[in-house]
Amino acid sequence: MRIAILSRQAKLYSTIRLVEASRQRGHQVEVIDTLRCYMNIASHKPSIHYKGRRLHNFDAVIPRIGASITFYGTAVLRQCEMMGIFPVNESVAISRSRDKLRSLQLLSRKGIGLPITGFAHSPDDTQDLIRMMGGSPLVIKVLEGTQGMGVVLAETQKAAESVIDAFTGLKVNIMVQEFIKEAECSDIRCFVIGGKVVASMKRQAKSGDFRSNIHRGGTGEPIKITPEERVTAVRAAQIMGLNVAGVDILRSNHGPCVLEVNSSPGLKGIETTTGIDVASKIIEFIEQHAKPHSTRTKGKG
Ligand code: ADP
Ligand code: MG
Repeated sequence: MRIAILSRQAKLYSTIRLVEASRQRGHQVEVIDTLRCYMNIASHKPSIHYKGRRLHNFDAVIPRIGASITFYGTAVLRQCEMMGIFPVNESVAISRSRDKLRSLQLLSRKGIGLPITGFAHSPDDTQDLIRMMGGSPLVIKVLEGTQGMGVVLAETQKAAESVIDAFTGLKVNIMVQEFIKEAECSDIRCFVIGGKVVASMKRQAKSGDFRSNIHRGGTGEPIKITPEERVTAVRAAQIMGLNVAGVDILRSNHGPCVLEVNSSPGLKGIETTTGIDVASKIIEFIEQHAKPHSTRTKGKG
């Protein structure tokens, strides 16, 4: 098969591993810099141009779209879908997963366990919102944040009020969440591929922080997850419409709580922690499912 990896960084661990795994399994693979793709969207025959040539003949595309380029990246991916190239994750599902509020609303509708979460627009409602969330301590999150950036723990009512008011004053969209203290500054990353958890790890925040993101200095260790956690992770990925997803779960007193579902989960932490060849499992998934023109949504809605 011919596989394209949409990635800005050919030298990134995840990209390197996906290239290796593709070659090992006998496929041709090319890393395409997402931001160097350009296209004529009104043409009768959809196409993508890249560094002066026309891209064609790809059977599958692995989107590795960073949060900062979601808009352009999903547009390029949508064009791939229109050309009949099989996407590991569809553009619509990626856009959906990038909005934390929208994601949690979708998950909540299907009965997935979540931390108590709320949002408000007007500073006049801040106090009542805090009361609704059960008071401090509270976690306040910027909706489009990633890698732990824009996630703040407010330990007191006053701190929560100031942080919420500061963000809303700056016209930044936020949500407010109960702080799951019993998770003890750790969470569980479940790596889901094609409806199965293929690897999981516990991530522990570095001392002095409550955010367990590896990018924030968190450390991973292998963990055996419970059947309930496994079902939760698989269902969360499925509800988001993602074939490949990193589902982050907190162990709370009221069961597993999904924090977020990542559509371009990194491979470094999970592979080095668990020793599992996750990259090859993604390529195997492509082998089993890539059919031309099989995108379910065709980039619509
Ligand atoms: P990001 O997209 O920036 O990774 P997350 O919502 O995943 O944002 O939050 C980052 C980290 O902060 C999580 O991995 C978790 O360790 C911690 N965290 C987030 N929300 C809560 C919460 N409600 N209670 C306890 N810890 C939390
Ligand atoms: Mg996260």
